[in-house]
Amino acid sequence: MTAKRKRFIAGATCPVCHSADTLAVWREDNSYRVACVKCGYTQGQDDDMISAKRPDKENIIGIFHPE
Ligand SMILES: [Zn+2]
Repeated sequence: MTAKRKRFIAGATCPVCHSADTLAVWREDNSYRVACVKCGYTQGQDDDMISAKRPDKENIIGIFHPE
């Protein structure tokens, strides 16, 4: 098994087994691959789709400007 950096997509639901927080994503070549660790579902994803789905809470906190 190669050591690729995988991260889980918070809040994402597997389209096959409908489990939440079981989708792992990693970069492969010039695209992202998504896999469900529960049922083994895999799919390729565009960069934009992953970025839109991923709630990056730390960045949101960083750019929040309280009055
Ligand atoms: Zn699944």
